[in-house]
Amino acid sequence: MPDAAGQDSYDVVVVGGGIVGLATARALLRARPGSRVVVLEKADDVGVGQTGHNSGVIHAGLYYRPGSLKARLCRAGERATKEFCREHGIEVKEIGKLVVATDHDERARLDALAAGARENGIDVRDIDVAELREMEPNVTGVAALHSPRSAVVDFGEVARALADEVTELGGEVRVRSEVDRIAESETGVDVSLEHGERLRALRLVACAGLQADRVAASAHVRTDVRIVPFKGEYYTLPGHREGLVERLIYPVPGEGLPFLGVHITPTVDGRILLGPNAVLAMSREKNTRFGFDADDVRDAVSFGGLWKLGQKHWRTGAKELWNSLVPDGYLSEVSKYCPSLRSTDLVGYRTGVRAQALRPDGTLVDDFEIASTPRQVHMLNAPSPAATAAIPIGEELVGRVWE
Ligand SMILES: Cc1cc2nc3c(=O)[nH]c(=O)nc-3n(C[C@H](O)[C@H](O)[C@H](O)COP(=O)(O)OP(=O)(O)OC[C@H]3O[C@@H](n4cnc5c(N)ncnc54)[C@H](O)[C@@H]3O)c2cc1C
Repeated sequence: MPDAAGQDSYDVVVVGGGIVGLATARALLRARPGSRVVVLEKADDVGVGQTGHNSGVIHAGLYYRPGSLKARLCRAGERATKEFCREHGIEVKEIGKLVVATDHDERARLDALAAGARENGIDVRDIDVAELREMEPNVTGVAALHSPRSAVVDFGEVARALADEVTELGGEVRVRSEVDRIAESETGVDVSLEHGERLRALRLVACAGLQADRVAASAHVRTDVRIVPFKGEYYTLPGHREGLVERLIYPVPGEGLPFLGVHITPTVDGRILLGPNAVLAMSREKNTRFGFDADDVRDAVSFGGLWKLGQKHWRTGAKELWNSLVPDGYLSEVSKYCPSLRSTDLVGYRTGVRAQALRPDGTLVDDFEIASTPRQVHMLNAPSPAATAAIPIGEELVGRVWE
């Protein structure tokens, strides 16, 4: 609705039409029906960033530090996502997950994982070798942890349904609307779009995924974190390996980096995926194996935090790079718990780039991170399980917008 100066004027502008921005817009409209809310998305469609390039796993919440935002919001999100999907006729397959230990070191880490999961109130069960063989004859290990509530969905479909609901609730979703500059004053927030248009709002929420740090910088929001893109490459299996596993099969996560390891995912549309790995990406938004963007590379290498991260984790980084280039290396990550797989089974599939916030001291930000000013809220770190947790993240952000 135009104001006296002829500018469109809103109660809240949401930057980013990924699953988190859309869930936030929905939550804003549910909390204050009739408020004027617009979602601005720079791409041609909603849900085409990380939201449309992930594993599609509704995480039960096994992995997250008790007391963290991730632990609380993932647990709530697992339930909220399934309920939303039920209401909107979106298919969810509750196939469950096995985290498989293949040696005694991993067994000790699996026990620690199980203890953390139980502290978080997650339903898990210890599985011995005989039961593992019975549940998944093609998977081997010394022990496993079963999470029956883990499930799969198409998060792109969830995002589109969220966008429809935003519109039904009276909000607007505008695509091809890239936010260029944000200026906050005592009375409101002025938003300039790339194509020259200007909007005014009382408040702004930014959920810009891989551009979160740049959008925060354009709004003069103080933060020391920088987004580092990590690409995840997937393979799929040919038809004759159909039925290899029934459940999600995960390794025990390694120590240090916050990624879950190359896993096997039976998707909601009937494929079996292997992946993703985690390799430093040369582009934030090109979801291809060799995507390159000179500005993104320049930004990354000029950030001291990346060099410090490299010093700490160069071995893991080198191994990930090798496994990315050499299919046998990639396969070795999976064949230790699924030995019948061969490199001839790997059919290249797709790539998805993750946004992971990094501090200047080289520490990867583990939890979701949110920065606020009097009139703005910026989601600065929303890596996995933020797709699972999007609905409660939206509710959390609403509390901060209207506080
Ligand atoms: C390989 C991979 C596997 C994953 N697996 C899982 C999983 O199984 N389960 C799970 O829960 N999570 C998973 N995740 C994480 C999950 O996908 C993300 O946490 C989630 O999608 C984040 O949503 P978002 O809305 O914050 O970001 P995005 O989906 O990236 O959306 C951000 C949007 O902001 C837009 N934008 C950016 N800048 C601007 C601007 N200036 N103006 C307007 N629009 C802008 C972008 O175009 C984009 O559409 C995975 C991620 C990846 C990459």
